[in-house]
Amino acid sequence: MSKARKPHTKYIVVTGGVLSGLGKGIAAASIGNLLSGRLKVIPVKCDGYLNTDPGTMNPIEHGEVFVQDDGGEVDMDFGHYERFMGIESKFNWNLTMGKVFKQILDKERRGDYLGKTVQFIPHVTDAIKNWYHEIAATENADVLLIEVGGTVGDLENQFYLEAIRQLKRDVGEDNLIYIHLTYVPVPEGVHEQKSKPTQMSVRLLNEKGIEPDIIIGRCSELLNPSIKEKIASYCNISPAAVISGPDVRSVYEIPLIYEREGLPELLHSALGIYSPPDLRQWETWVTNIKNNQDNPRRTVTIALCGKYTTLEDSYASVVEALTHCGAHLNVKVAIKWVDTSKLETQAQVEAALQGAEGVIVPGGFGHRGIEGKIKVIQYVREHDMPYLGICYGMQLAVVEYARNVAGLKDANTTEVRQEGINVPHPVIDILPGQVNVSNKGGTMRLGGHDVEIKQGSQAYKIFGNKTLVRQRFRHRYEVNPEYIKRIEEKGLVFSGKHPTENIMQVMELPGHKYFLGCQFHPELTSNLRNPSPLFYHLVKAALAE
Ligand code: GLN
Repeated sequence: MSKARKPHTKYIVVTGGVLSGLGKGIAAASIGNLLSGRLKVIPVKCDGYLNTDPGTMNPIEHGEVFVQDDGGEVDMDFGHYERFMGIESKFNWNLTMGKVFKQILDKERRGDYLGKTVQFIPHVTDAIKNWYHEIAATENADVLLIEVGGTVGDLENQFYLEAIRQLKRDVGEDNLIYIHLTYVPVPEGVHEQKSKPTQMSVRLLNEKGIEPDIIIGRCSELLNPSIKEKIASYCNISPAAVISGPDVRSVYEIPLIYEREGLPELLHSALGIYSPPDLRQWETWVTNIKNNQDNPRRTVTIALCGKYTTLEDSYASVVEALTHCGAHLNVKVAIKWVDTSKLETQAQVEAALQGAEGVIVPGGFGHRGIEGKIKVIQYVREHDMPYLGICYGMQLAVVEYARNVAGLKDANTTEVRQEGINVPHPVIDILPGQVNVSNKGGTMRLGGHDVEIKQGSQAYKIFGNKTLVRQRFRHRYEVNPEYIKRIEEKGLVFSGKHPTENIMQVMELPGHKYFLGCQFHPELTSNLRNPSPLFYHLVKAALAE
Protein backbone atom coordinates (compact mmCIF):
# COMPACT_ATOMS: atom_id res chain seq x y z
CA MET A 1 0.00 0.00 0.00
CA SER A 2 1.52 3.34 -0.95
CA LYS A 3 1.69 6.03 1.70
CA ALA A 4 -0.64 9.01 1.49
CA ARG A 5 0.76 11.82 -0.60
CA LYS A 6 1.72 15.01 1.21
CA PRO A 7 -1.02 17.41 0.08
CA HIS A 8 1.21 20.33 -0.66
CA THR A 9 3.90 18.58 -2.72
CA LYS A 10 4.45 20.35 -6.03
CA TYR A 11 5.67 18.49 -9.09
CA ILE A 12 8.03 19.81 -11.73
CA VAL A 13 8.59 17.46 -14.65
CA VAL A 14 11.53 18.01 -16.97
CA THR A 15 11.51 16.36 -20.40
CA GLY A 16 13.84 16.76 -23.35
CA GLY A 17 13.39 16.83 -27.08
CA VAL A 18 15.12 16.99 -30.47
CA LEU A 19 18.53 15.66 -29.39
CA SER A 20 20.09 13.89 -26.50
CA GLY A 21 23.06 15.55 -24.85
CA LEU A 22 21.44 18.96 -24.46
CA GLY A 23 22.19 18.99 -20.74
CA LYS A 24 18.84 17.98 -19.30
CA GLY A 25 20.51 16.87 -16.07
CA ILE A 26 22.20 20.23 -15.64
CA ALA A 27 18.92 21.98 -16.50
CA ALA A 28 17.02 20.00 -13.85
CA ALA A 29 19.81 20.51 -11.30
CA SER A 30 19.78 24.26 -12.01
CA ILE A 31 16.01 24.44 -11.53
CA GLY A 32 16.53 22.59 -8.25
CA ASN A 33 19.27 25.01 -7.30
CA LEU A 34 16.93 27.98 -7.76
CA LEU A 35 14.37 26.39 -5.45
CA SER A 36 16.73 25.14 -2.81
CA GLY A 37 16.72 28.27 -0.66
CA ARG A 38 14.06 27.16 1.80
CA LEU A 39 12.17 24.36 0.10
CA LYS A 40 12.85 20.67 0.31
CA VAL A 41 13.38 19.71 -3.32
CA ILE A 42 13.76 16.02 -4.11
CA PRO A 43 15.13 15.12 -7.55
CA VAL A 44 13.89 11.93 -9.23
CA LYS A 45 15.47 10.56 -12.39
CA CYS A 46 13.65 8.11 -14.66
CA ASP A 47 15.78 5.97 -16.95
CA GLY A 48 14.37 3.74 -19.65
CA TYR A 49 16.95 0.97 -19.63
CA LEU A 50 16.43 -2.50 -18.19
CA ASN A 51 19.49 -2.63 -15.95
CA THR A 52 18.54 -2.28 -12.30
CA ASP A 53 21.15 0.46 -12.04
CA PRO A 54 24.24 1.59 -13.97
CA GLY A 55 26.61 -0.13 -11.50
CA THR A 56 27.36 -2.98 -13.88
CA MET A 57 27.72 -0.83 -17.00
CA ASN A 58 30.99 0.04 -18.62
CA PRO A 59 31.80 3.70 -17.92
CA ILE A 60 32.80 4.13 -21.57
CA GLU A 61 29.23 3.31 -22.50
CA HIS A 62 27.38 5.01 -19.70
CA GLY A 63 29.69 7.56 -18.12
CA GLU A 64 30.56 7.68 -14.46
CA VAL A 65 28.67 5.61 -11.91
CA PHE A 66 27.71 7.97 -9.11
CA VAL A 67 27.72 6.40 -5.65
CA GLN A 68 25.31 7.66 -3.03
CA ASP A 69 25.69 7.72 0.73
CA ASP A 70 23.12 4.93 1.10
CA GLY A 71 25.19 2.72 -1.21
CA GLY A 72 23.14 3.28 -4.37
CA GLU A 73 24.94 3.24 -7.71
CA VAL A 74 23.14 5.69 -9.94
CA ASP A 75 23.21 7.80 -13.04
CA MET A 76 25.74 10.62 -13.11
CA ASP A 77 22.91 13.15 -13.18
CA PHE A 78 22.71 12.55 -9.44
CA GLY A 79 26.17 14.06 -9.23
CA HIS A 80 24.76 17.23 -10.80
CA TYR A 81 21.78 17.21 -8.44
CA GLU A 82 23.95 16.84 -5.34
CA ARG A 83 26.47 19.45 -6.48
CA PHE A 84 23.86 22.03 -7.50
CA MET A 85 21.36 21.47 -4.74
CA GLY A 86 23.57 20.61 -1.77
CA ILE A 87 21.58 17.47 -1.00
CA GLU A 88 22.34 13.84 -0.21
CA SER A 89 20.38 11.77 -2.69
CA LYS A 90 19.01 8.26 -2.26
CA PHE A 91 19.00 5.12 -4.39
CA ASN A 92 15.25 4.89 -4.83
CA TRP A 93 15.17 8.39 -6.35
CA ASN A 94 16.53 6.78 -9.52
CA LEU A 95 13.82 4.80 -11.29
CA THR A 96 14.91 2.49 -14.07
CA MET A 97 12.64 0.30 -16.14
CA GLY A 98 14.65 -2.58 -14.70
CA LYS A 99 13.57 -1.64 -11.16
CA VAL A 100 9.97 -0.96 -12.16
CA PHE A 101 9.54 -4.26 -14.01
CA LYS A 102 11.26 -6.21 -11.25
CA GLN A 103 8.83 -4.81 -8.71
CA ILE A 104 5.87 -5.74 -10.92
CA LEU A 105 7.15 -9.23 -11.71
CA ASP A 106 7.87 -9.92 -8.01
CA LYS A 107 4.32 -8.83 -7.17
CA GLU A 108 2.91 -11.02 -9.89
CA ARG A 109 4.75 -14.08 -8.54
CA ARG A 110 3.61 -13.27 -5.00
CA GLY A 111 0.05 -13.29 -6.24
CA ASP A 112 -0.69 -9.62 -5.63
CA TYR A 113 -2.52 -9.35 -8.96
CA LEU A 114 -4.23 -12.72 -8.62
CA GLY A 115 -6.95 -13.17 -11.19
CA LYS A 116 -5.94 -10.09 -13.16
CA THR A 117 -4.06 -9.64 -16.41
CA VAL A 118 -0.97 -7.56 -15.64
CA GLN A 119 -0.81 -4.82 -18.25
CA PHE A 120 1.42 -1.94 -19.24
CA ILE A 121 -1.46 0.38 -18.55
CA PRO A 122 -2.50 0.66 -15.75
CA HIS A 123 0.00 -1.54 -13.91
CA VAL A 124 3.29 -0.12 -15.17
CA THR A 125 2.11 3.49 -15.11
CA ASP A 126 0.58 3.02 -11.66
CA ALA A 127 3.81 1.51 -10.38
CA ILE A 128 5.69 4.58 -11.65
CA LYS A 129 3.23 7.05 -10.13
CA ASN A 130 3.16 5.21 -6.80
CA TRP A 131 6.92 5.34 -6.78
CA TYR A 132 6.77 9.15 -7.08
CA HIS A 133 4.13 9.43 -4.36
CA GLU A 134 6.11 7.18 -2.03
CA ILE A 135 9.17 9.38 -2.38
CA ALA A 136 7.14 12.57 -1.90
CA ALA A 137 5.58 11.17 1.27
CA THR A 138 8.69 9.56 2.74
CA GLU A 139 10.80 12.64 2.15
CA ASN A 140 8.06 15.09 3.07
CA ALA A 141 8.99 16.87 -0.15
CA ASP A 142 7.94 20.40 -0.95
CA VAL A 143 8.86 19.79 -4.56
CA LEU A 144 9.39 16.59 -6.51
CA LEU A 145 11.62 17.43 -9.47
CA ILE A 146 11.18 14.60 -11.96
CA GLU A 147 13.59 14.29 -14.88
CA VAL A 148 12.54 11.89 -17.61
CA GLY A 149 15.61 10.47 -19.34
CA GLY A 150 16.15 10.38 -23.09
CA THR A 151 14.13 12.42 -25.55
CA VAL A 152 10.43 12.50 -26.31
CA GLY A 153 9.83 9.88 -28.96
CA ASP A 154 12.17 7.28 -27.47
CA LEU A 155 10.13 4.13 -27.21
CA GLU A 156 11.70 3.08 -23.92
CA ASN A 157 10.52 6.21 -22.10
CA GLN A 158 6.90 6.08 -23.19
CA PHE A 159 5.59 4.70 -19.91
CA TYR A 160 7.19 7.47 -17.93
CA LEU A 161 5.58 10.04 -20.23
CA GLU A 162 2.19 8.39 -19.88
CA ALA A 163 2.62 8.28 -16.10
CA ILE A 164 3.50 11.97 -15.89
CA ARG A 165 0.59 12.83 -18.17
CA GLN A 166 -1.78 11.10 -15.77
CA LEU A 167 0.00 12.64 -12.80
CA LYS A 168 -1.27 16.13 -13.61
CA ARG A 169 -4.85 14.93 -13.35
CA ASP A 170 -4.11 13.08 -10.14
CA VAL A 171 -2.42 15.93 -8.28
CA GLY A 172 -4.31 18.84 -9.81
CA GLU A 173 -3.51 21.58 -12.32
CA ASP A 174 -2.02 23.91 -9.73
CA ASN A 175 0.44 21.38 -8.44
CA LEU A 176 2.35 20.25 -11.49
CA ILE A 177 4.16 21.87 -14.38
CA TYR A 178 5.97 20.48 -17.39
CA ILE A 179 9.27 22.02 -18.48
CA HIS A 180 10.55 20.95 -21.87
CA LEU A 181 14.17 21.38 -22.95
CA THR A 182 14.66 21.63 -26.71
CA TYR A 183 17.25 22.70 -29.22
CA VAL A 184 17.30 25.99 -31.10
CA PRO A 185 19.92 25.76 -33.83
CA VAL A 186 21.59 28.71 -35.52
CA PRO A 187 22.57 27.11 -38.83
CA GLU A 188 25.83 28.26 -40.30
CA GLY A 189 25.30 30.65 -43.17
CA VAL A 190 21.76 31.46 -42.05
CA HIS A 191 22.79 33.21 -38.82
CA GLU A 192 19.27 33.01 -37.49
CA GLN A 193 17.80 31.16 -34.53
CA LYS A 194 15.43 28.48 -35.80
CA SER A 195 12.30 27.32 -34.01
CA LYS A 196 11.23 24.38 -36.19
CA PRO A 197 12.93 21.59 -34.17
CA THR A 198 11.27 22.99 -31.02
CA GLN A 199 7.87 23.08 -32.71
CA MET A 200 8.25 19.47 -33.87
CA SER A 201 9.37 18.29 -30.48
CA VAL A 202 6.51 20.04 -28.71
CA ARG A 203 4.08 18.51 -31.23
CA LEU A 204 5.43 15.10 -30.35
CA LEU A 205 4.89 15.86 -26.68
CA ASN A 206 1.35 17.13 -27.45
CA GLU A 207 0.63 13.78 -29.12
CA LYS A 208 1.37 12.18 -25.76
CA GLY A 209 -1.20 14.49 -24.19
CA ILE A 210 1.35 16.78 -22.56
CA GLU A 211 1.51 20.54 -23.04
CA PRO A 212 4.67 22.15 -21.72
CA ASP A 213 4.23 25.16 -19.41
CA ILE A 214 7.81 26.36 -19.80
CA ILE A 215 10.21 25.77 -22.68
CA ILE A 216 13.96 26.04 -22.32
CA GLY A 217 15.69 26.56 -25.65
CA ARG A 218 19.24 25.26 -25.70
CA CYS A 219 21.09 27.43 -28.16
CA SER A 220 24.61 28.63 -28.89
CA GLU A 221 23.48 32.09 -27.72
CA LEU A 222 20.72 33.76 -25.71
CA LEU A 223 17.32 33.45 -27.38
CA ASN A 224 16.21 36.70 -28.97
CA PRO A 225 12.75 38.20 -28.32
CA SER A 226 11.41 37.31 -31.76
CA ILE A 227 12.22 33.61 -31.47
CA LYS A 228 10.70 33.56 -27.99
CA GLU A 229 7.57 35.11 -29.47
CA LYS A 230 7.49 32.56 -32.28
CA ILE A 231 8.01 29.53 -30.03
CA ALA A 232 5.41 30.91 -27.62
CA SER A 233 2.77 31.33 -30.31
CA TYR A 234 3.31 27.84 -31.76
CA CYS A 235 3.37 26.20 -28.37
CA ASN A 236 0.51 28.01 -26.60
CA ILE A 237 2.54 29.67 -23.87
CA SER A 238 3.56 33.22 -23.13
CA PRO A 239 6.90 34.51 -24.49
CA ALA A 240 8.04 35.01 -20.89
CA ALA A 241 7.75 31.25 -20.42
CA VAL A 242 10.39 30.64 -23.09
CA ILE A 243 13.76 30.59 -21.36
CA SER A 244 17.25 30.73 -22.84
CA GLY A 245 19.62 27.88 -22.23
CA PRO A 246 22.73 29.21 -23.95
CA ASP A 247 26.07 27.44 -24.31
CA VAL A 248 28.21 28.36 -21.32
CA ARG A 249 31.81 27.91 -20.36
CA SER A 250 30.88 26.72 -16.90
CA VAL A 251 27.77 24.68 -16.13
CA TYR A 252 27.59 26.47 -12.77
CA GLU A 253 26.51 29.57 -14.68
CA ILE A 254 23.20 28.01 -15.69
CA PRO A 255 21.26 28.77 -12.46
CA LEU A 256 22.38 32.40 -12.74
CA ILE A 257 21.14 32.56 -16.32
CA TYR A 258 17.80 30.94 -15.51
CA GLU A 259 17.41 33.42 -12.68
CA ARG A 260 18.03 36.36 -15.02
CA GLU A 261 15.61 34.85 -17.53
CA GLY A 262 12.88 34.97 -14.90
CA LEU A 263 12.49 31.29 -14.03
CA PRO A 264 11.90 31.84 -10.28
CA GLU A 265 8.99 34.17 -11.05
CA LEU A 266 7.53 31.69 -13.54
CA LEU A 267 7.66 28.91 -10.96
CA HIS A 268 6.10 31.22 -8.46
CA SER A 269 3.19 32.18 -10.67
CA ALA A 270 2.60 28.58 -11.81
CA LEU A 271 3.01 26.73 -8.53
CA GLY A 272 3.07 29.41 -5.85
CA ILE A 273 6.61 28.52 -4.77
CA TYR A 274 9.51 30.92 -4.57
CA SER A 275 12.78 30.13 -2.91
CA PRO A 276 15.91 31.29 -4.71
CA PRO A 277 19.02 30.68 -2.63
CA ASP A 278 21.60 33.38 -2.00
CA LEU A 279 23.69 33.14 -5.15
CA ARG A 280 26.15 35.96 -4.47
CA GLN A 281 29.06 33.74 -3.49
CA TRP A 282 28.14 31.27 -6.19
CA GLU A 283 28.45 34.09 -8.69
CA THR A 284 31.95 34.95 -7.43
CA TRP A 285 33.11 31.37 -7.97
CA VAL A 286 31.53 31.24 -11.42
CA THR A 287 33.28 34.51 -12.28
CA ASN A 288 36.58 33.02 -11.11
CA ILE A 289 36.06 29.95 -13.29
CA LYS A 290 35.23 32.06 -16.35
CA ASN A 291 37.97 34.64 -15.86
CA ASN A 292 40.56 31.94 -15.46
CA GLN A 293 39.42 30.27 -18.65
CA ASP A 294 39.86 33.43 -20.69
CA ASN A 295 42.83 34.93 -19.00
CA PRO A 296 44.21 32.68 -16.29
CA ARG A 297 45.72 34.37 -13.28
CA ARG A 298 47.76 31.16 -12.93
CA THR A 299 47.36 27.76 -14.59
CA VAL A 300 48.11 24.61 -12.64
CA THR A 301 48.25 21.36 -14.58
CA ILE A 302 47.13 18.11 -13.03
CA ALA A 303 47.74 14.83 -14.86
CA LEU A 304 44.76 12.48 -14.64
CA CYS A 305 46.17 9.02 -15.26
CA GLY A 306 43.60 6.36 -15.98
CA LYS A 307 42.22 3.80 -18.33
CA TYR A 308 39.01 5.40 -19.51
CA THR A 309 40.65 8.67 -20.39
CA THR A 310 39.08 8.55 -23.83
CA LEU A 311 35.77 9.40 -22.25
CA GLU A 312 35.92 12.34 -19.93
CA ASP A 313 32.43 11.51 -18.63
CA SER A 314 33.82 8.47 -16.85
CA TYR A 315 35.71 10.75 -14.48
CA ALA A 316 33.08 13.50 -14.40
CA SER A 317 33.12 14.01 -10.64
CA VAL A 318 36.92 14.15 -10.53
CA VAL A 319 36.87 16.87 -13.17
CA GLU A 320 34.19 18.75 -11.22
CA ALA A 321 36.15 18.48 -7.97
CA LEU A 322 39.15 20.08 -9.69
CA THR A 323 36.91 22.83 -11.05
CA HIS A 324 35.67 23.54 -7.51
CA CYS A 325 39.27 23.93 -6.33
CA GLY A 326 40.11 26.26 -9.22
CA ALA A 327 37.09 28.43 -8.38
CA HIS A 328 38.11 28.78 -4.73
CA LEU A 329 41.83 29.27 -5.40
CA ASN A 330 41.08 31.59 -8.33
CA VAL A 331 43.31 29.65 -10.74
CA LYS A 332 42.78 27.57 -13.83
CA VAL A 333 43.16 23.86 -13.19
CA ALA A 334 44.14 22.32 -16.52
CA ILE A 335 43.80 18.56 -16.84
CA LYS A 336 46.33 16.54 -18.78
CA TRP A 337 44.71 13.22 -19.70
CA VAL A 338 47.16 10.34 -19.57
CA ASP A 339 46.20 6.86 -20.78
CA THR A 340 48.33 4.56 -18.64
CA SER A 341 47.71 1.52 -20.83
CA LYS A 342 50.17 3.12 -23.26
CA LEU A 343 52.99 3.66 -20.75
CA GLU A 344 55.70 1.03 -20.75
CA THR A 345 59.05 2.75 -20.33
CA GLN A 346 60.40 5.33 -17.90
CA ALA A 347 60.89 7.73 -20.83
CA GLN A 348 57.22 7.39 -21.79
CA VAL A 349 56.18 8.13 -18.21
CA GLU A 350 58.38 11.22 -18.11
CA ALA A 351 57.02 12.43 -21.43
CA ALA A 352 53.43 11.82 -20.32
CA LEU A 353 53.92 13.83 -17.13
CA GLN A 354 55.75 16.66 -18.88
CA GLY A 355 54.24 19.96 -17.72
CA ALA A 356 52.15 18.37 -14.95
CA GLU A 357 52.51 19.86 -11.48
CA GLY A 358 50.35 17.30 -9.70
CA VAL A 359 49.08 13.81 -10.46
CA ILE A 360 45.88 11.91 -9.79
CA VAL A 361 45.38 8.19 -10.31
CA PRO A 362 41.61 7.78 -10.00
CA GLY A 363 39.51 4.68 -9.35
CA GLY A 364 39.64 1.74 -11.73
CA PHE A 365 39.28 -1.98 -12.18
CA GLY A 366 41.19 -4.86 -13.73
CA HIS A 367 44.67 -5.40 -15.00
CA ARG A 368 44.93 -3.27 -18.14
CA GLY A 369 46.94 -0.11 -17.61
CA ILE A 370 47.97 -0.83 -14.02
CA GLU A 371 51.70 -1.34 -14.64
CA GLY A 372 51.71 2.10 -16.30
CA LYS A 373 49.94 3.54 -13.26
CA ILE A 374 52.49 1.95 -10.93
CA LYS A 375 55.33 3.49 -12.98
CA VAL A 376 53.63 6.90 -12.78
CA ILE A 377 53.30 6.55 -8.99
CA GLN A 378 56.96 5.57 -8.63
CA TYR A 379 57.95 8.62 -10.66
CA VAL A 380 55.88 11.08 -8.61
CA ARG A 381 57.03 9.56 -5.33
CA GLU A 382 60.69 9.74 -6.32
CA HIS A 383 60.37 13.27 -7.76
CA ASP A 384 58.39 14.71 -4.85
CA MET A 385 55.43 15.59 -7.11
CA PRO A 386 52.05 16.12 -5.42
CA TYR A 387 49.97 12.95 -5.73
CA LEU A 388 46.43 11.94 -4.92
CA GLY A 389 45.54 8.27 -5.35
CA ILE A 390 41.84 7.53 -5.31
CA CYS A 391 40.66 3.99 -4.51
CA TYR A 392 42.64 1.94 -7.07
CA GLY A 393 45.07 4.87 -7.05
CA MET A 394 45.66 4.30 -3.34
CA GLN A 395 45.89 0.52 -3.69
CA LEU A 396 48.45 0.81 -6.48
CA ALA A 397 50.48 3.33 -4.45
CA VAL A 398 50.69 0.68 -1.74
CA VAL A 399 51.72 -1.91 -4.38
CA GLU A 400 54.41 0.45 -5.70
CA TYR A 401 55.74 1.15 -2.23
CA ALA A 402 55.75 -2.54 -1.34
CA ARG A 403 57.69 -3.43 -4.49
CA ASN A 404 60.17 -0.58 -4.61
CA VAL A 405 60.69 0.42 -0.98
CA ALA A 406 59.67 -2.55 1.16
CA GLY A 407 61.44 -5.00 -1.16
CA LEU A 408 58.39 -7.20 -1.70
CA LYS A 409 59.19 -8.38 -5.20
CA ASP A 410 56.23 -8.58 -7.58
CA ALA A 411 53.83 -7.36 -4.88
CA ASN A 412 50.41 -6.81 -6.40
CA THR A 413 46.69 -6.78 -5.88
CA THR A 414 44.97 -10.15 -6.07
CA GLU A 415 42.52 -8.49 -8.47
CA VAL A 416 44.99 -9.35 -11.28
CA ARG A 417 44.85 -13.09 -10.48
CA GLN A 418 41.74 -13.24 -12.68
CA GLU A 419 44.15 -12.46 -15.50
CA GLY A 420 46.33 -15.44 -14.57
CA ILE A 421 49.07 -13.29 -13.02
CA ASN A 422 51.05 -14.79 -10.17
CA VAL A 423 50.89 -12.67 -6.99
CA PRO A 424 53.56 -13.74 -4.51
CA HIS A 425 52.92 -10.78 -2.18
CA PRO A 426 49.20 -9.95 -2.11
CA VAL A 427 49.53 -6.53 -0.46
CA ILE A 428 46.06 -5.70 -1.72
CA ASP A 429 43.55 -8.47 -1.23
CA ILE A 430 39.84 -9.08 -1.49
CA LEU A 431 37.76 -7.78 1.42
CA PRO A 432 36.68 -10.68 3.66
CA GLY A 433 33.02 -9.79 3.09
CA GLN A 434 33.52 -10.09 -0.69
CA VAL A 435 34.98 -13.58 -0.89
CA ASN A 436 31.76 -15.44 -1.55
CA VAL A 437 30.04 -12.76 -3.58
CA SER A 438 29.17 -13.97 -7.06
CA ASN A 439 26.48 -11.50 -8.17
CA LYS A 440 27.93 -8.42 -9.79
CA GLY A 441 25.26 -5.77 -9.28
CA GLY A 442 25.34 -3.67 -6.11
CA THR A 443 27.60 -6.11 -4.27
CA MET A 444 30.80 -4.11 -3.72
CA ARG A 445 31.52 -2.36 -0.44
CA LEU A 446 29.44 0.66 -1.32
CA GLY A 447 28.33 3.99 0.04
CA GLY A 448 29.12 6.21 3.00
CA HIS A 449 31.29 4.94 5.84
CA ASP A 450 33.09 6.67 8.69
CA VAL A 451 36.83 7.21 8.47
CA GLU A 452 38.82 7.65 11.65
CA ILE A 453 41.69 10.07 11.05
CA LYS A 454 44.94 9.76 12.96
CA GLN A 455 45.63 12.83 15.08
CA GLY A 456 48.63 14.88 14.00
CA SER A 457 48.78 13.28 10.52
CA GLN A 458 48.72 15.23 7.27
CA ALA A 459 45.19 13.95 6.67
CA TYR A 460 44.18 15.33 10.08
CA LYS A 461 45.37 18.80 9.05
CA ILE A 462 43.76 18.53 5.64
CA PHE A 463 40.42 17.59 7.16
CA GLY A 464 40.57 20.62 9.50
CA ASN A 465 41.69 18.70 12.62
CA LYS A 466 38.75 16.32 12.46
CA THR A 467 39.20 12.81 13.80
CA LEU A 468 36.11 11.47 12.06
CA VAL A 469 34.94 12.13 8.51
CA ARG A 470 32.33 10.39 6.37
CA GLN A 471 33.25 9.41 2.82
CA ARG A 472 31.86 7.28 -0.02
CA PHE A 473 33.29 3.95 -1.08
CA ARG A 474 33.05 1.57 -4.02
CA HIS A 475 35.51 -1.30 -3.85
CA ARG A 476 36.05 -5.04 -3.43
CA TYR A 477 39.71 -5.04 -2.42
CA GLU A 478 41.63 -3.50 0.48
CA VAL A 479 45.11 -3.22 1.96
CA ASN A 480 45.91 -6.72 3.18
CA PRO A 481 46.08 -6.48 7.02
CA GLU A 482 48.91 -9.02 7.02
CA TYR A 483 51.24 -6.60 5.25
CA ILE A 484 50.39 -3.40 7.10
CA LYS A 485 53.19 -3.69 9.66
CA ARG A 486 55.87 -4.45 7.07
CA ILE A 487 54.82 -1.52 4.91
CA GLU A 488 54.48 0.94 7.80
CA GLU A 489 57.94 -0.02 9.07
CA LYS A 490 59.28 1.32 5.78
CA GLY A 491 57.69 4.73 6.30
CA LEU A 492 54.23 4.71 4.72
CA VAL A 493 51.55 5.76 7.23
CA PHE A 494 47.94 4.61 7.24
CA SER A 495 46.38 7.76 8.62
CA GLY A 496 42.72 6.89 8.06
CA LYS A 497 41.05 3.67 9.14
CA HIS A 498 37.61 2.27 9.64
CA PRO A 499 36.67 3.04 13.28
CA THR A 500 36.07 -0.60 14.22
CA GLU A 501 37.19 -2.83 11.33
CA ASN A 502 40.77 -3.25 10.16
CA ILE A 503 40.20 -1.52 6.82
CA MET A 504 42.84 1.06 5.80
CA GLN A 505 41.12 4.10 4.31
CA VAL A 506 43.82 6.80 3.98
CA MET A 507 47.56 6.49 3.40
CA GLU A 508 50.26 9.15 3.33
CA LEU A 509 54.00 9.47 3.02
CA PRO A 510 55.54 11.77 5.64
CA GLY A 511 58.26 14.06 4.33
CA HIS A 512 56.80 14.08 0.83
CA LYS A 513 55.26 17.33 -0.42
CA TYR A 514 51.85 15.69 -0.86
CA PHE A 515 51.50 11.97 -1.34
CA LEU A 516 48.09 10.82 -0.24
CA GLY A 517 45.85 7.94 -1.10
CA CYS A 518 42.28 7.31 -0.08
CA GLN A 519 40.26 4.14 -0.38
CA PHE A 520 37.12 6.26 -0.80
CA HIS A 521 36.05 8.64 -3.56
CA PRO A 522 36.34 12.22 -2.28
CA GLU A 523 35.21 13.57 -5.67
CA LEU A 524 31.68 12.34 -4.97
CA THR A 525 31.13 14.77 -2.12
CA SER A 526 32.93 17.80 -3.54
CA ASN A 527 30.81 20.75 -4.59
CA LEU A 528 31.20 24.37 -5.60
CA ARG A 529 30.39 25.59 -2.08
CA ASN A 530 32.71 23.08 -0.37
CA PRO A 531 35.51 21.62 -2.49
CA SER A 532 36.82 18.29 -1.22
CA PRO A 533 39.79 19.01 1.09
CA LEU A 534 41.89 16.22 -0.47
CA PHE A 535 41.60 17.79 -3.92
CA TYR A 536 41.94 21.30 -2.59
CA HIS A 537 45.22 20.54 -0.84
CA LEU A 538 46.53 18.60 -3.84
CA VAL A 539 45.98 21.65 -6.05
CA LYS A 540 47.50 23.92 -3.40
CA ALA A 541 50.57 21.70 -3.17
CA ALA A 542 50.83 21.67 -6.97
CA LEU A 543 50.62 25.48 -7.01
CA ALA A 544 53.48 25.68 -4.55
CA GLU A 545 55.84 23.96 -7.01
N1 GLN B 1 39.35 -2.33 -8.28
C1 GLN B 1 39.55 -1.88 -6.96
C2 GLN B 1 38.63 -2.56 -5.97
O1 GLN B 1 37.65 -3.14 -6.34
C3 GLN B 1 39.38 -0.39 -6.88
C4 GLN B 1 37.99 0.05 -7.12
C5 GLN B 1 37.88 1.50 -7.43
O2 GLN B 1 38.88 2.15 -7.75
N2 GLN B 1 36.68 2.04 -7.38
O3 GLN B 1 38.85 -2.51 -4.79
